[in-house]
Amino acid sequence: MLKGEEKIGGHRDPVCGMQVDPEKTKFSAKQGDEICYFCSEYCYKRFLAEPEKFTAEAEKEEE
Ligand SMILES: [Zn+2]
Repeated sequence: MLKGEEKIGGHRDPVCGMQVDPEKTKFSAKQGDEICYFCSEYCYKRFLAEPEKFTAEAEKEEE
């Protein structure tokens, strides 16, 4: 997989930034209207510890 490849409608792990296939990961968390998916338990736990930090960063990048 190439890093930095972005697909419209794909799911990105907000912690590490990699693309995550929702069908293959068991780590997900609802955040507002969106469901965030994580590549690993490690990212999932980091997100749960500080969800606002990671969602704020994602929004900044989108703009
Ligand atoms: Zn990750």
